[in-house]
Amino acid sequence: MSVVYERVALIGLGLIASSMFWAMKRGGLAGEVTGFARSAETRDTAREIGLCDRVCDTVAEAVEGADLVVLCVPVGVMGSVAAEVAPHLKPGATVSDVGSVKADVLAQVGPHLPDHVHFVPAHPLAGTEHSGPRSGFASLFEHRWTILVPPEGTDRAATDRLRTLWEGFGAFVDEMEPEHHDLVLAVTSHAPHLIAYTMVGVADDLRRVTDSEVIKYSAAGFRDFTRIAASDPTMWRDVFLSNKEATLEVLGRFTEELFALQRAIRQGDGDHLHDYFTRTRAIRRGIIEAGQDTDAPNFGRAGPKP
Ligand code: NAP
Repeated sequence: MSVVYERVALIGLGLIASSMFWAMKRGGLAGEVTGFARSAETRDTAREIGLCDRVCDTVAEAVEGADLVVLCVPVGVMGSVAAEVAPHLKPGATVSDVGSVKADVLAQVGPHLPDHVHFVPAHPLAGTEHSGPRSGFASLFEHRWTILVPPEGTDRAATDRLRTLWEGFGAFVDEMEPEHHDLVLAVTSHAPHLIAYTMVGVADDLRRVTDSEVIKYSAAGFRDFTRIAASDPTMWRDVFLSNKEATLEVLGRFTEELFALQRAIRQGDGDHLHDYFTRTRAIRRGIIEAGQDTDAPNFGRAGPKP
């Protein structure tokens, strides 16, 4: 593959930035990649593991001369980080981000950017429950969607170039309006995370079920909630605070459906439950047919240790 950007700057060096770096190196998609992280500890770790060609101690140094600058920090600090980055941007550069919420990031970042740069926000729909500079890997984005959210009037060539980079990571790429993105993600990611956090919290509260039993019998379903509920607390706090409207809308609908199922159980309405579960099973089949998960039993996991 050929180089898409001569100079790339990654601001924030966690799971997503480190995965982007390894994917860029694997594919030969970038010339030099610089990196900056807020803490000296993260910068030292990055140097130790060879994450980025050059790890910089200031934002200015990292951004200087970059053709692409990607903000890879929690959604809640995108605006303040953009303000730090802005004075150092080279004319014609592209600024992007990887935040999980888009309307709020556009509103936070856009006003800080000078007219002489292109702004193409992005969101890779790929992640794990791990975070930090050591957690990334080159194949994270393969066969997963990345959504680009260019504001109206964005230079087509700048958007297409960023698309080429993400396609070089093995991702499928789509474009969307920010509000639509936030509603889709509220349904597919944000509300499910909140429900998982709640379920794990409920189990934690139910001290009648002892901790050891919760862990011992977790393969009955609970375990899959705990994986999601182990996700980074800062990132997810920011996601809910910045995608408030869409998340509350989806949770409202969720609560209505939950009440309907609760009523069906109370009234012994087996037909309602059966019809509902038949419909949800079809959605699972659709996800497997779209290549977004495995149809191996138990997600292809080996059996539990006795
Ligand atoms: P992460 O592993 O926790 O890394 C976050 C990075 O941001 C760290 O380098 C951290 O620096 C830096 N940072 C945190 N607060 C900062 C601040 N106030 N100022 C400057 N830098 C700061 O996070 P991640 O999972 O890569 O997530 C990064 C972005 O990607 C988030 O916006 C998230 O919504 C989005 N995203 C995440 C996933 C996922 O599953 N994890 C998926 C798609 C998109 P220090 O290490 O020095 O603290």
